[in-house]
Amino acid sequence: MAHEMVHAQQLIEGRLVQCDLAHYRWKDQACEKVANIAYLDRPWEKEAMETGAALYNAYRSKFLALSPVQLPE
Ligand SMILES: [Zn+2]
Repeated sequence: MAHEMVHAQQLIEGRLVQCDLAHYRWKDQACEKVANIAYLDRPWEKEAMETGAALYNAYRSKFLALSPVQLPE
């Protein structure tokens, strides 16, 4: 869920723009067909994985008093 909230933030702030049903634009780059970019190569996914994991671990630490977890490679 933290991962998806990062995507919401990207869209709200305009760093990620859906050009049409199949194309997305990241920051100042051109619109690209998302199917042509491997999932792990999409910059918005990289950010969502990193920031989402950090948010999740901050939540675990602050509210559940649990230690951080590592993202799968
Ligand atoms: Zn994602």
